[in-house]
This record gives sequence, C-alpha cells and structure tokens, in this order.
Amino acid sequence: MARTEATTPAPSGTGPRGRNQRAVVRLLGERGALSRAAIARTLELSPTTVAGIVADLVADGTLVENPADPVTRGRGRPARTFGLAPQGGVVGGVDVGRTHVRAALATADGQVVAEREVPLPLGHSGPETTPIVLDLLADLLEASGRAPGDLRAVGLGLPGPVERSSQTVGPGTILSGWVGYDMAREVGARLGVPAATDNDANLAVLAESRWGAARGVRNAVYVKISTGIGAGMVLDGHLHRGFGGTAGELGHSPLEPAGAVCRCGNRGCLETVASVPSALELLRPTLGPDLTIDQVIEACGAGDPACRRVIEDVGRHVGRGVALLANLVDPELILLGGPFVRAGEAFLGAVRTGLRRDAIPSVAARARVERGLLGDRAAVLGALALALESAPLPGGTG
Ligand SMILES: [Zn+2]
Repeated sequence: MARTEATTPAPSGTGPRGRNQRAVVRLLGERGALSRAAIARTLELSPTTVAGIVADLVADGTLVENPADPVTRGRGRPARTFGLAPQGGVVGGVDVGRTHVRAALATADGQVVAEREVPLPLGHSGPETTPIVLDLLADLLEASGRAPGDLRAVGLGLPGPVERSSQTVGPGTILSGWVGYDMAREVGARLGVPAATDNDANLAVLAESRWGAARGVRNAVYVKISTGIGAGMVLDGHLHRGFGGTAGELGHSPLEPAGAVCRCGNRGCLETVASVPSALELLRPTLGPDLTIDQVIEACGAGDPACRRVIEDVGRHVGRGVALLANLVDPELILLGGPFVRAGEAFLGAVRTGLRRDAIPSVAARARVERGLLGDRAAVLGALALALESAPLPGGTG
C-alpha cells in the first residue's frame, strides 16, 4: 500500500542497544507518553541506559518531549514525559450508538486531529451503517489534510457484548440489525488497514485509563447506563475482556426473581429497573408519551419530585448491581457514564447509597464512585486507543 507520510527513522541496528530502542518505541506506542523512570521500571532497564536511548531517539526525531494529549489538548503534562513524535499517519476511532455514530482521527501520540458525529436512523443495521462510517472517515481525513493512505488502523465500538473470536455481537443486543455482522472485517478490507471491534464500555474504561479519570488507577470499573447497562473493567492495569470477550454484562444480573421479563429472556435483570427505557416507562403515564430522558434530567434539576425520585431509584438499583461487581473485583474507582450522570449528585449519590447497602463494608468504603471525565467522547477515544494498539508502529521492527 502506498504511504504518503514521511516515516520516522527506524531504530535500526543489532545488539542490545537496537533491541532496547525498539522496546522503548513499542512501549510508548502501546502506553502513550511516559517518564524515563517509568520506561526504566517497565522494561527493567537501568535509568542510565534509558536516558541514553531516549536522548538518541529524541535526537533522531522518533520521540518528542511532553507530547500533547487529547484531554489536556496541548497543555502538556506536569512531569517530563516522552512519547512518539507525531507522524503523517493517523488512526481512526468509531463509536456506533443506537442513534448516532461518532468518529475521530488521532496521531500516533494520541492527539485528536478531527472528530465528528452524525445521526443514524433507529434500528440501523451493520451493512447500512458501514458506508456511512467509511464516508465519515474519508471526510475526517480530508478535513485534517490527510490522504487516504495516511490511515493506519481503525478501532470500532458497539453497544453490546462483542465476542472476541468473531468480532461480532450476539443475539439479545440492543442493535438487532448487527447480530453476526463483522464490521471490522468490512471496514478493514475496504481501507486496507487493521481494524478491531470492542464493546463501548470496554473502550470507555480504556480511554479513561489512558487519558481520563482512571489515569494511574490499576483497578477501575466503568459502568455505562443507557438503553442497557454494560461494564468495562481494568484489572491490575489491563483491560479484562474475559475468555470469549464478553465480560462485564452487568445489565443482566438478576436482582428480582419475580421481576419483569428482560429482553435476554430472564426475569428481573438489573436493566429492567435501571435503564433509560425503564425510567421513561415509569414517567410517561403522567408526563406524556413523548417524554425524553433529557427532559427528565432537566426536570430533576428544576426540583420536579417525580423525576428526581425515578432518577434516584435508578441510581440505587445501579448501586446494588455495582455492589455485586465490586464485591468480586474490589475496584479502587467506579466510573459512571451515560445520560443519567448529567443529573449529577441526585444520581451519583443514589448509586453510592445502593453500593453501601449491598457491598461488603470494606469494599464500599474504599471504592470511589465518580462520573467519567471524558463524557460522551469516552468510547470514541477508547476506539482510538484500540486502533493505536493495532497500528504498525513508527520505526517498528518491520
Ligand atoms: Zn436480561
């Protein structure tokens, strides 16, 4: 494939020095910018060796000091860190939701250079959406002054459990038009680049760990409460996908044995009492059939007792579900995402109450419950992080 970008001089050479240079480049490609001390610790090299390698790689243009990141947007970081120099090449991230698709491009150091969201029709299917995604990526490449050949890899996010072996969502997902459809294969084949698909909550926790509220946290859980409930987990510093790739299906934890029948076929699952549809179902008889979740949140903020009560009830149920998970994995940080977090403490406080009620006291006392820092961008930024993991690295081993 023709590449128009100027490639970074590869750390070539044989022997331990060349090998160590390649290890440093690979590490920074995977983890983003790091301090020299962190590089030395991770690669088990002496600080002197790392200082020499970093100086050489800065001198030849492979690395830059204090690269910008997508959250601070160029303000840099307080510590002296080193990351891969921006290349001509970019990676793409795509977050497909029920009613929208958001896409972004980022350079090798993770800086977002273009981002856009377009609406999708309700009930959209994979085959219908792929051309929209391809057009969106082409538009972003053009808008950022890149050629099509500058795209190196694409990460894709879907709101459902994605099986690792097939890269597809199974039956029972909220996107029924996507069951069995391998978007990564289609997009990758059309663009001639590596592409991978993951669940949106997994991508959100990946992004929050790399650039957001969970930076530096080794055990974090991200719970997205929307049409359904999904959880992404970083355990001991690594994204935990499970054996088949579908870990974190918190929404189908059974809470009420005699509860409502869930779309998964069981009864009383968490998401039958803690989701956007369940909240609207409670309020629409009194507030009208066209009520939206944004209106509920706004009314809650304005002091409407019914809306506040429903949001608090959803929060308490979420807290009980999170307690099941917290008892098992003992997280330091529980991040919440999805529309309810916009209700602020009315929702977060209720989640904490539910957690304290059902988790063992030591776990409930340790785990902080906060809203994600990256908001609605978390999944698309995580898709970029996924793409950066699969992109051929500048100066890689070739
Ligand atoms: Zn269920």
